[in-house]
Amino acid sequence: MESNELIRELIERVAGDVGLIIYSLRPRREFTDEQMSEELGIEINDVRKALFALYELGLAEYRRKRDDETGWMEYYWKINYDKQNEVLRRELLKTKRKLEEKLEMEESSIYYICINGCVKISYEEAMEYNFMCPRCGSMLEYFDTSIIVEKVREEIEKIDEMLNSLK
Ligand SMILES: [Zn+2]
Repeated sequence: MESNELIRELIERVAGDVGLIIYSLRPRREFTDEQMSEELGIEINDVRKALFALYELGLAEYRRKRDDETGWMEYYWKINYDKQNEVLRRELLKTKRKLEEKLEMEESSIYYICINGCVKISYEEAMEYNFMCPRCGSMLEYFDTSIIVEKVREEIEKIDEMLNSLK
């Protein structure tokens, strides 16, 4: 997956459609949330929410200035396009860590599942239930995690490739 596609996915997940629209606009100059709201015809609260979500990601920054006429604090926003790869790298590493934890868990445990799909439990628990499903009473079956392990490994590999392509 290309990094532009990745960043769009991330922004959509964290800052929603409005965040994605603002980011895609590529505003050259600083702007206030009010200006952006007018330009896009989107509720100012939705614009603010999206901007603060972008800020949380590290993709936007702001400075505050008091408006001389109204006395209100105004937020002047800027989108940090140069932070894109840095943010992506951080998010990819976060996902990778989670996958590695999952991998470790799947590799180190033995699971049993109900043949009807009600439960997935550890070997110890399965013993306690005499290898019968606690919900429906059917037999419990050894659950082969090798497919999951393989999948998680592939996902980690993909993330490594993406990380390499960011360099
Ligand atoms: Zn069952």
